[in-house]
Amino acid sequence: MNGRTDSVVIVGAGVFGATAALELRNRGYPVTLVDRAPVPHIDASSTDVSKMIRMDYGADVFYHELAEAALDGWEGWNADWPVPLYHPEGFLVLAAGAMQPGGFEYESHRVLRERGYDPQRVDGAYLAEHCPAWNAERYADGYLSPRGGWAESGAVVARLLELCAVAGVTLRTGDGVAGLLEGDACVEGVHLESGERIAATHVVVAAGAWTPVLVPWTAPILRSVAQPILHFGVDRPDEWRAPHFPPFAADISGTGWYGFPALADGRVKLGHHGEGHAVHPDDRGEVFGEHVAYARSFLAESIPALAEAPLVGTRVCLYCDAFDGDLLIDRVPGHEGLVVASGGSGHGFKFAPVIGGIVADALEGYDNRWSLRFRWRDAGPPAREEARFYTSGERT
Ligand SMILES: Cc1cc2nc3c(=O)[nH]c(=O)nc-3n(C[C@H](O)[C@H](O)[C@H](O)COP(=O)(O)OP(=O)(O)OC[C@H]3O[C@@H](n4cnc5c(N)ncnc54)[C@H](O)[C@@H]3O)c2cc1C
Repeated sequence: MNGRTDSVVIVGAGVFGATAALELRNRGYPVTLVDRAPVPHIDASSTDVSKMIRMDYGADVFYHELAEAALDGWEGWNADWPVPLYHPEGFLVLAAGAMQPGGFEYESHRVLRERGYDPQRVDGAYLAEHCPAWNAERYADGYLSPRGGWAESGAVVARLLELCAVAGVTLRTGDGVAGLLEGDACVEGVHLESGERIAATHVVVAAGAWTPVLVPWTAPILRSVAQPILHFGVDRPDEWRAPHFPPFAADISGTGWYGFPALADGRVKLGHHGEGHAVHPDDRGEVFGEHVAYARSFLAESIPALAEAPLVGTRVCLYCDAFDGDLLIDRVPGHEGLVVASGGSGHGFKFAPVIGGIVADALEGYDNRWSLRFRWRDAGPPAREEARFYTSGERT
């Protein structure tokens, strides 16, 4: 590791901040990683029991390739880490009718095949035989994506933070960043809520949904959006796991529903990617009863045996949505020394193994294969905010 004298402060120890800290430390920088509470922070988007890891992105080959690169990383982490935290159980993509050109399912399937994968085509007969929990009459078409699955996301962040500590990253928790230290020509560090100041040559803000609060210049590009998660309890978890019950997306661009196999404690997690509602990140609210009823109607129609399952947990998770759904990882124009690494937009976790490198390249001023899409960009006139923000149901 080369020793460097220019130091880095990273704000936020979610998956963006933790991977950035590890990579920058490995590139020789003295790195301080700051979070306002013990980490993994319970309110962080990264801190959940599970996240989907998939390379199915409709016709968007850029994200397919990025996810493919990340999957190499996940497989490497599984090989290197004492306990594998990525579960390569595939990804069941179901369509309500025949998959149609231009549709998410059709295009994802096409891209997989064109790039050399051999996804298992799924129809009602296949579902009835192999995945009997599903209403085979409801889903006429789809496929089982061969490379993908889910990750124990909170545990992944905890592991990354252990690796940060081993690498020599200084971890500061329990004192949030109140603001940036702005010099005449550049950002010179951060000041904490306690009043303490941490000077640094580079500041990376990776504060997830809090990023637009801390860096107001990102507000035209990013916003915090609340999204509900439900946990249903099952008696025999083994029956709710792959291969019978792999991670799934059920007509996701039409309905928004996706979910995961049972955890060891019998929880089946059901998520809904919809428009959500814009919130202040410190005031995310609760899951509405109407949403639970809506979920039960989906289950009754699609996975009948879960329709009456007890609701054993809920969570409101925050997307940091970019107006166009792309991550935002770049230097902030007009604020020398400041890098923003955020905009996960409901689908950022899966890229964990490659995010640190993208952030570090941005800080060092290098372009890479991914950086152009994640650059600082103009979101257009503020008056059209609702129209500008990305609301399609294909991200998870
Ligand atoms: C419901 C839901 C489902 C999702 N599902 C998936 C999925 O299946 N697959 C997938 O790939 N992605 C998914 N995502 C997206 C993914 O979770 C996020 O893109 C990713 O976790 C964002 O990580 P982050 O590090 O940017 O933010 P976070 O994980 O939120 O971390 C931000 C950190 O910054 C800290 N912080 C904030 N303000 C301050 C401050 N002032 N001072 C110090 N620290 C501060 C917070 O405490 C927090 O620890 C989902 C997101 C949600 C909400």
